[in-house]
Amino acid sequence: VKGLASVDVLVVGLGPAGARAAATAARGGTKVLGVERKKEVGIPVQCAEFVPLPLSGYANANGVLTQRVAEMASLLPSGTCQRSLAPGLMVDRAAFDAALVRDAQHCGAAVSLATRVVDVDAKRSIATLSARGQQVEIGYRILIAADGPHSTVGEKLGLPVLDTVHTRQYTVPLRQPYSDTDVWLSDAYPGGYAWLFPKGAVANLGLGLHKRHTRNLKQALDRLHKTMVEEGRVGSDVVFRTGGAIPVGGLRDGLAVGNVLFVGDAAGLTHPITGAGIAAAVASGERAGEAAADCLVRGRSDALADFELEIREQYEKTLKRAVERRRWLQQNWASSQPDRDAQYRKAWVAFPEYFAPL
Ligand SMILES: Cc1cc2nc3c(=O)[nH]c(=O)nc-3n(C[C@H](O)[C@H](O)[C@H](O)COP(=O)(O)OP(=O)(O)OC[C@H]3O[C@@H](n4cnc5c(N)ncnc54)[C@H](O)[C@@H]3O)c2cc1C
Repeated sequence: VKGLASVDVLVVGLGPAGARAAATAARGGTKVLGVERKKEVGIPVQCAEFVPLPLSGYANANGVLTQRVAEMASLLPSGTCQRSLAPGLMVDRAAFDAALVRDAQHCGAAVSLATRVVDVDAKRSIATLSARGQQVEIGYRILIAADGPHSTVGEKLGLPVLDTVHTRQYTVPLRQPYSDTDVWLSDAYPGGYAWLFPKGAVANLGLGLHKRHTRNLKQALDRLHKTMVEEGRVGSDVVFRTGGAIPVGGLRDGLAVGNVLFVGDAAGLTHPITGAGIAAAVASGERAGEAAADCLVRGRSDALADFELEIREQYEKTLKRAVERRRWLQQNWASSQPDRDAQYRKAWVAFPEYFAPL
C-alpha cells in the first residue's frame, strides 16, 4: 500500500490466539504487528483459568501455574456425582497471556497495546487503528482476526455475529484445599452450567446461562455462593468479579475470508458445551501464523485455504456434536420428563450418553 505504514501480518487481539499467531508468523519471517485494545495484556481476567495438560509447556513462566487439577466431579439434579479424569492446570490467566505476548515479541513481533481496530477496508487491505485519541491507517498483506467472540473484524467484513452464552464469576476464598473441579448441571442453570475451579487458597465460582436468562445470572450465582458458604466450603468474601461471552454456535462459515484468517473465539472455536477455548485458541493461532508465513515468505498461495481445511478437520466434528446437544437440551428444557438426570447425561461431556446417538 503506497505511502502508508504497512506490515505483512496484522494480528488483531492479543489473547492466546493472537499472541501465538503473532509469534509463529514472526518466526516464519514476516513483519508482524499485534494490536490489543487493553492497556495491559490479559487484564481484567475473564476466565475460569483451567488449561488442559497438553498446554503445560505454555505455563512455565513465573507466576503462571497456581495448582494442578486431577478430576472433574459432575453433579446431576438428583445429587448423583460422576467423577471423571480431567487432568489440567489452573493458571493465572493474566500472567499466562502476558507470557505468550512476551514470547511473540521475542520472536520479532511488534506489539501495540491500548490500540483498537475500529475499521477494516477489506478491499484495500487497510485497517484503521485508534490509539491515544488518534486514528491511523495501516496496510496489511494478511490480517489475523483474534479479537474474541464479538469480533470487530468479523463485523466490519459484514459477517454474521456469533451466538454466545453469558457468564458471571466470583473469586472466593476456599475453606479447604481442593484438587478437583466441580460442575453443577441443573434446571437452575438453563442453557449452561455452574462451576468451581480451585486456585490454591481461592476458587473461581461461576456460571453460564443462555442469553435468554442473562437477567438471572447474578441471582443464580449469589444463591450458589450462599449455599457453598453455608456448607463451609468457601468464604463469604468476593475477592474478584468477572464475566464475559462464550461463543456457542460452532465454527464460522469461513475461517479464511480472502486474506483474513479467523482464530480462537473469533472463529467460534470454543467448545459450545464446556466453554473451554484456550487450547483451541493457541492451536488455531499457531496454525494461522504459520499459514501466513507460508503464503508470504514461501509463496504458497494455497496456505490460507489449507489453514481452514486443517482447522475444520481437527475441530468441526467435535463442535458440531456440541452444538447439536446444546440445541437439543434447549428444546427439551421445559419438558416434563421426570428423569432430569437422563437428559443432562446426553448433554454433558463426562457421560458416555453424550457420545451416543440422541
Ligand atoms: C467466564 C469465562 C470462563 C472461561 N473459562 C475457561 C477455562 O477455564 N478454560 C478455557 O479453556 N477457556 C475458558 N474460557 C474461554 C476462553 O477464555 C476463551 O476461549 C479464550 O480466551 C479465547 O482466546 P482468544 O485469544 O481467541 O480470545 P480472547 O482471549 O478473548 O482475546 C481477544 C482479545 O482481542 C482484544 N480485542 C477485541 N476487539 C479488539 C479490537 N477491535 N481491537 C484490538 N483488540 C481487540 C480483546 O481485548 C482481547 O484481549 C472462559 C471464558 C469465560 C468468559
